[in-house]
Amino acid sequence: MDSCWASCLGNCSQKLSREHLVSESLFLSEKIRVQGFPWCANNAVDIGISGLTAKILCERHNNTLSPADESGAKAFATFRESMRLDNVRRGMKPRVWNVKQFRIDGPGLERWCLKTLINLSCNGTLPIGRDSQVAGRPSERLVRVAYGLESFQGRAGLYFVVRPGMVLTSDETVRFSPLIKNNSIIEGGLFTFRGMNLLLFLEPEGPPEPLDGVFINGEDLGYAQLNFHNREIKTSVGKYLSQVIRIDW
Ligand SMILES: [Zn+2]
Repeated sequence: MDSCWASCLGNCSQKLSREHLVSESLFLSEKIRVQGFPWCANNAVDIGISGLTAKILCERHNNTLSPADESGAKAFATFRESMRLDNVRRGMKPRVWNVKQFRIDGPGLERWCLKTLINLSCNGTLPIGRDSQVAGRPSERLVRVAYGLESFQGRAGLYFVVRPGMVLTSDETVRFSPLIKNNSIIEGGLFTFRGMNLLLFLEPEGPPEPLDGVFINGEDLGYAQLNFHNREIKTSVGKYLSQVIRIDW
């Protein structure tokens, strides 16, 4: 039966809205590439974003999430612009660059990742978060974090995944893979976009390091470094600093 995943907050409006599982118009690509759920364990599946909707939030709780959508939209626009500048400068003769500064709202991006992880996992066969009692539904704790009513504790939250020499894909395809513990609980998820690899981990002890058995584009992340609440991403072109993305937490 259709129901609102934020119903534990109370005060649901009567009507369920048809929610886009991944915010529309955030990405230029028409599709998201998903792999790792029980229904796509071994093969990546491309899903059209515009058709990817479900009745999983009531209208009130859908509307209350729009600040997270705005933060997500701004962050992804920043990643896109940063990658564009990087491409332009890589085509030029290296010089002392006019260093371009970007800023991102970290908690807002973190909340966007959480709500999107919940949307994509909703109504599936696995509980979302260890403290969830119901398959395909988030725990009350995660709902409260998604709505900004409480914060992640300990080492739960957003990580930037980096590995020297990692192949950066600069296409527009968005990728998502859930992190599943013992085939039974969703404990996180990995978003990839424009060479940015964002890991959202839901449990306070933090993700297993190394991240064994997790792949992006066929690349094993076992050797990757996980930067928790990373504050700064510096990119050089040639030997000169080109741009800095600052993430406010
Ligand atoms: Zn509701």
